[in-house]
Order: sequence, then C-alpha cells, then structure tokens
Amino acid sequence: MRAVDIIIKKRNGIALTKEEIAFMVNGYTKGDVEEYQMSAFAMAIYFQGMSDLETTYLTEAMLKTGDELDLSEIKGVKVDKHSTGGVGDKTSLVVGPIAASLGIKFAKMSGRGLGHTGGTLDKLESIPGFTIQIPNEDFIKQVNEIGIAIVGQSANLALADKKLYSLRDVTGTVDSIPLIASSIMSKKLASGADVISLDVKVGSGAFMKDVESATKLAKLMVQIGKNCGRNMTAILTNMDEPLGLAVGNSLEVIEAIETLKGKGPKDFSELCEVFSAHLLIDANIAKTEDEAFKMVKDSIESGKALETFKKFVKAQGGDERIVDDYSLLGKSKYEFKVLSSKEGYISKIDALTVGNASCLLGAGREKLTDSVDHTVGIVLSKKVGDHVSENDVLATIYSNKENVDAEMKMLKEAFVIENNAKEMKLILKIVK
Ligand code: URA
Repeated sequence: MRAVDIIIKKRNGIALTKEEIAFMVNGYTKGDVEEYQMSAFAMAIYFQGMSDLETTYLTEAMLKTGDELDLSEIKGVKVDKHSTGGVGDKTSLVVGPIAASLGIKFAKMSGRGLGHTGGTLDKLESIPGFTIQIPNEDFIKQVNEIGIAIVGQSANLALADKKLYSLRDVTGTVDSIPLIASSIMSKKLASGADVISLDVKVGSGAFMKDVESATKLAKLMVQIGKNCGRNMTAILTNMDEPLGLAVGNSLEVIEAIETLKGKGPKDFSELCEVFSAHLLIDANIAKTEDEAFKMVKDSIESGKALETFKKFVKAQGGDERIVDDYSLLGKSKYEFKVLSSKEGYISKIDALTVGNASCLLGAGREKLTDSVDHTVGIVLSKKVGDHVSENDVLATIYSNKENVDAEMKMLKEAFVIENNAKEMKLILKIVK
C-alpha cells in the first residue's frame, strides 16, 4: 500500500477500506506517513467526507494507537461526559458532583482549552493546590471512594488523535464531521466509561454552526459508541450566547459552586439538570425523567452535591474552603464595565467574540504550550432576551492589564441590541 494512492482515492471520492484507513493512521503515528501526506489526506476527507462505516474504521484505528483504560475495578456504572467545546462551559464541574452524589461513578479524563473555548482542567487548576495528574490506581480508588475524579488525559490515549488534532489545527481541517467524530470518540472509547454523554454545541461559538450539521455529528458519535457497546446520549445545546454568565477560569469555578448551591444562572442550571438527569437514566439509576429530575433537584437542595464537590476538590489536593470563601481563588487587579450604547433588547451575544476577548485577556491560550491567567475573564450582566437602557452594564471585564481597549471593543460588538425581545432555546435536540 502507498499513502499517495489512498490520498488520491479519497480525493476522488471513493470509499476507503478498513485496511487503507488503518495504514494511514498507523503510518502517521509511527512517522512513516509524512505530515504533508496526512495534511492532504485530512483535506481530502474535509472535502469528500466519509461514510459512517469509514468513520467507524477511522475511530477504531485511532483508538488502537494508544492505551485503553481498564475501569473494571470501579464498582458501579462508570460515566463520562464530553462537550464539543463552548464558551463559559463549566458543566462537568456541576454535573460530576451531582451525578456522584446520586451513586454514579463519574470518571472523567479531560482536556485543556484551546482558542476561544476554555478547558475543564484549566478551570480546576484555578483552585489552589488542585492537581489534575494522579496515578491510575489513585484515580480508580478516588472514584470508588467518592464517586468522582477529573484528571488530565493520559499521554497514551489515542496517540494518533494528538498528532492529527495539532495538524488539523493548522491546516484548516478542524471542522469536518468525520474528523471531529473520530477524534472525540477515539478518546472517549479509550477512557473506558460504560455511559457516555455528549454535549454537542451549536451556534456561533461552536464548531457546528447549525442544527442540521450538529445532528449529523451527534448521530454519528452515538452510533460509533453504540457499536462499541456503550450507552450513548448526545444533547444538542445552543452556543449562540455564552453559557451562564461567567467566562474565565476562576470566575467559572465560582459560578459552578453557586450553581451547586442552587443559585446559578437559569440557562446553566437548566443544562446541568438536563445532563445529570439523562446520566441517571442511562446509568439505570432512575427509571423515568420525572424521577431523574427530582433526584437531581434533591441533590442540590439537600447540599449533597456541594458536599461531594468539596470532597472531590480535597481528594485532588485542592483547598475545599474555596466553597465558602471565593477570595481564596485570587482576584484580578482591575475591573472595567462594558456599558450599553442604547436602549432595547439583547438579541445576541456572540459567543465566539466573548471567548476570543477572554482569551486575549489571558484566560485562554492560542497554543497548547501557552500558560493561562486563572483570575481574568468576563462576567455578563445581561443575557439574550433581557431589556437594557442606555448606559446599563452589559458585562464586567476582569483583567490584570490596565489597557483593555481591544477587549472592550470586542465585547461591545458581541452584544446585539434590537427593538424586539427574542427568546433563546437552550436544549435543541436529544439524540439517543
Ligand atoms: N474536540 C476534539 O477532541 N476533537 C475535535 O476534533 C473537535 C473537538
């Protein structure tokens, strides 16, 4: 077999065999297939697409380039939750403790943020002392004891994806449905959970800009997971405005804790409840949606979810006193208010622009090797549908630099104000 023949075959729109796909993936991982060949291959896939069967072969080939975690020593149903990447998405910090407090084993390997989307690990690392690197035996022990652990992805999971994702990032081939599906599912399958719950973001701040393409991606990932014996749910959720109010690491941790206390923003709280309820159903802990939602509400109202969050933070070396004293998270030096230039109703808050502004403040990274500033970010005061008068505060910028002219301009542009009120639907579709 020769890489060039396989590239030409895909370029001409002919379906590839399992062996041809494995040849490219294995060859690339070992260094036998050159970067420029893989770039051309990714671009051919981008334009010609792949059948569901080809995507399954691609996922399996990538999965086999690394280790597969054995979670069999964890008693109970192991679940994992993954988001395709959004702005202000701190859902795992809330869903994990709720699920764990209700008997689910939340064993999650997470990633770092890149570009406008933040990563769960960066958010957790804003907690003093918190470590995301724990040995495998301790990970299993912690999940068995308190029901939850969130750690960094081991370097050895789906090795091909690591290499390919960096290549896609610089060759304009990230937003391809088969490439995204195989990238996410190879890592999720390698992480060993029985139940996998996917949050497929749709909108300006997401890879998938419309419901149609997001549905395609969701169905494909659900099918790949089911073919491998996993219990799958994908929920399409709106990313036409940031999720919740806070964007930026420690600011999002505070919002997650407030949500666990039952005082979170409406949209974010709803999303967390929906995901937690579906996990309970998929894990066979609740029989009906009514029962599941009631269990979730009880976990928050009784303080059980918050208590589990504290235990989780402590188990991973973090200072659990942050739950009652947010000043322990540190604070940025400066605050700037973004004011409304006119009266009307907010019709859009461009999530991508807010994410980019937060990144520019230092909350996110351009390259995986960049460091992040945990204390900076943006807190919205208004959401889509809200009425504003001239000079009302739209958002607050938390910064460690004195000049935020660029971020201020971006945020002013992110808010679209119109004469009529508009409602934004958060949960767009559930794919099982
Ligand atoms: N997240 C991933 O892990 N891979 C993609 O391709 C896109 C989002």
